[in-house]
Amino acid sequence: MLQYKTHSQKLNLIKNGKLSLTENVEYFRDSINKNADLNAFNFVFEEVVEESRKIEEKIHDGKYGKLAGMVIAVKDVLALKDKPLTCSSNILKKFKSIYTATAVQKLLDEDALIIGKTNCDEFAMGSSNENSARGVVKNPVNTEFVPGGSSGGSAAAVAAGLCDASLGTDTGGSIRQPASFCGIYGFKPTYGRVSRFGLTAFASSFDTIGPFARSVDDISLLLQVISGKDKYDSTSSDKEVPDFLSEYQNATKLKIGLPQEFFSDGLDPEIRDILYDYISKLKTDGFEIIDIHLPHHEYSIAAYYILTTAEASTNLARYDGVRYTTRSGKKDDLINMYTNTRSEGFGDEVKRRIMLGTYVLSAGYYDAYYAKAQKVRRLIQKDFFDAFEKVDVIITPTSPFTAFKLGEKTSDPLQMYLSDIYTTSANLAGIPGINVPVGSAGNGLPIGMQILANQFEELKLLRLSSYIESNYLKNEVV
Ligand code: GLN
Repeated sequence: MLQYKTHSQKLNLIKNGKLSLTENVEYFRDSINKNADLNAFNFVFEEVVEESRKIEEKIHDGKYGKLAGMVIAVKDVLALKDKPLTCSSNILKKFKSIYTATAVQKLLDEDALIIGKTNCDEFAMGSSNENSARGVVKNPVNTEFVPGGSSGGSAAAVAAGLCDASLGTDTGGSIRQPASFCGIYGFKPTYGRVSRFGLTAFASSFDTIGPFARSVDDISLLLQVISGKDKYDSTSSDKEVPDFLSEYQNATKLKIGLPQEFFSDGLDPEIRDILYDYISKLKTDGFEIIDIHLPHHEYSIAAYYILTTAEASTNLARYDGVRYTTRSGKKDDLINMYTNTRSEGFGDEVKRRIMLGTYVLSAGYYDAYYAKAQKVRRLIQKDFFDAFEKVDVIITPTSPFTAFKLGEKTSDPLQMYLSDIYTTSANLAGIPGINVPVGSAGNGLPIGMQILANQFEELKLLRLSSYIESNYLKNEVV
């Protein structure tokens, strides 16, 4: 049992001598061992105990960073120097990073403790964490169910109390959907807000890095730390980063849009009812609720899977047995070596995406698929820009259903892809989104609310989430 809910409470306990950071780290390591069947971690780091002593000293000396003593796990697609970086793939089974991702370095610079690297779908491709060469991850709320994906290990680790927070990545929902399935907060920033340097590329024009945590306070703090321009990522934005932490509590009455297309067929009625309940509470509290339309929403899954597979097929061409990878095949026969390395190294879902992506980019089909999907992407983005002329934020479900059973969708990729129906459009448009854990269904599994805002308006998401957290949700300590 942890005695705190937020990092600032933890820091105070340490300062007052009521909590030993080293004992706290030992507690987490112990919990990870006891919950080994969740399979949330690919690697747990020994040195963290030793490092915790140094950070504890810094705290007592009064000279410490913003995240001093926060115990954080990072998804195993993010580089940490001299540590394994497998992307939960056999092709990178033996690979070690030679540098650290900017987002992870920023955590370290603020005295965070990195406890380990978390399991995920192979190369972040999946919605259930069942596509991992390192085995499936189980949902801590009910271990017969999936934790969501692709950042399933990062979500499960936070939900099970195995660390204070974690980093995940979101290309089409991989932070928001597992946060929803596991009942925690998960934040996808605006594309370009957080540097992608050191993140293994899946679909470069979609990929984002963001935090999982158990409070809006911790989400704001982590977002604050990892955001900002980075000279190593030319797509990172030099837009000023607001002081998320001190500004998110200034609740203003925001205008909330409800896209009708997100509340229609296919949405579990229990989820719809819970969301409508919150929406009527917000209305009673003076928030203006406006029905809106996102007319091109129905094309988002198709556009997403055409464009991301196209980008993935080129990004993954680098795993050729020459660089990075475990090599197999005859060493004096190049084609044989490529073929064997890639056939043995990649799992089925990754191969499926490479083939799809190669197909949509091929000369005869480029215009019909890739070029067309680019145009649809623009229309989906425009729908959002038009909507944000009228409203500040948009509320939707994060997922059409609660977590599904392990194995339930593995034989039907299309059904699996459809579970991303409410999340992919934010990545197509490059806008930020958060999952707020708003309750549980009759089966005990968590339900999530997604809130979206215009590009670089993360603060509005934090403000509304914090309003909901402090006014409607129980202040439970994990
Ligand atoms: N589930 C989506 C996919 O399989 C999203 C993955 C992600 O965001 N990394 O592509």
